[in-house]
Amino acid sequence: MATTKSIQKDTYIDHKGRRIRRMTFEQRAELRRNFTASLPLWRHPLIGYLLSILLVGLFGWGQQALDGWIGGGGIYFAGSLLLLPVLFIATFWGTMPSLFTVLLGALYIDYFFIGYNQGISWQHWEDGLRILPFFISGITIAIITAQRERARWQTLIAEQELKEYAAELEVSNQKLEDANQTKDRFLSIASHELKTPITTIRGQAQLALRRLAKQDGEMNVSDMHTALERINEQTVRLTTLIEELLDVSSLRTGKTALNKRKLNINELCQQVVDDQKLLTGRHIELKLPPKEVMVSVDRDRIEQVLINLVGNAVKYSPEGSVVQICVERKWRKALIHVRDHGKGIAPDQLEKVFDTFYRTPDAEASTKKGLGLGLSISKEIIERHEGRIWCESQLGQGSEFFVELPLK
Ligand code: ADP
Repeated sequence: MATTKSIQKDTYIDHKGRRIRRMTFEQRAELRRNFTASLPLWRHPLIGYLLSILLVGLFGWGQQALDGWIGGGGIYFAGSLLLLPVLFIATFWGTMPSLFTVLLGALYIDYFFIGYNQGISWQHWEDGLRILPFFISGITIAIITAQRERARWQTLIAEQELKEYAAELEVSNQKLEDANQTKDRFLSIASHELKTPITTIRGQAQLALRRLAKQDGEMNVSDMHTALERINEQTVRLTTLIEELLDVSSLRTGKTALNKRKLNINELCQQVVDDQKLLTGRHIELKLPPKEVMVSVDRDRIEQVLINLVGNAVKYSPEGSVVQICVERKWRKALIHVRDHGKGIAPDQLEKVFDTFYRTPDAEASTKKGLGLGLSISKEIIERHEGRIWCESQLGQGSEFFVELPLK
């Protein structure tokens, strides 16, 4: 395959301008092994070596018979018939067995034609010369075979590289398609979520206006109060939604810069737990390791994640139940668990809860309000810190969310 321009060590641009990943040494070796394995058994190199012994013997004997018949010497070079086995072996078994045949042939000629059955020895330098035509022709055949093999290998490798390139293209196409679908889903849910509070706000405002008109300037304060309260509630919901949407978008596009500082995660957890206890009035237990656990993180962002996890644990578990938070140091990581004793999450929903706008059917059916954005934001934040977030749960036995962050 002709290459026009090399761009990187592991890729090149082929003659059609396609960027192709160069195969590694191991991949080439693997390809060679597969190719050898795909050959029929009779083309195994070992068969070539063994056959060459037989053929050299056979054709050498033929040559001797021919020499005896036509009187030998003079009109043709020594052992010319022995080139036929070389050609035959080269065609079907390749370079190395053909070289072996050349060597065998040369020895045969030396022994039977030059040494006249008296061993492998050169009496005069002319004896060496007599073997030369056979030797040069044999080596030429082997060289041509090697070139053919090389060309065939390059074609095979290029084919394989193209196949891999096509597979990579398919994967990236699929990813693009998935991203497009996610974007469409995101837009349709976002517009729906935005429309709902706006419809309420408009309805309440129109209702208040009609009442005002009916009472001819005299305002019923209680009705107005209810309408304004509803409007206020929905505006808060709208603002939260817009803030969270902006958060998701800026985190995803990498527009939010992280302001990383060294901090003791124990202190942050203690503060979040104290705040949440005050806010919710729930029983929240915190278990901290004796030593400080230092991480390098954006404090506000990690606090946001912890508030979301503790908030969810409180929200999706019964009033009287306990929520437990535990901090551990594991290998070179800090591990934070948030455990509740709520209904739990079904196995097939464990991954989905981190998707944008995803809410479990249980949460949707309940009175607990939510937009399904908190966990997807948390995931973005944790992944931007080179950490991991996941959930383990058993239906009816509560859920446990884990956050793993690299230690400082
Ligand atoms: P929200 O709580 O606003 O709906 P989140 O992104 O925080 O959004 O959570 C996504 C969904 O994951 C929730 O709607 C809920 O179905 C489920 N979930 C999250 N935390 C828990 C939990 N502790 N127990 C049970 N379900 C949970």
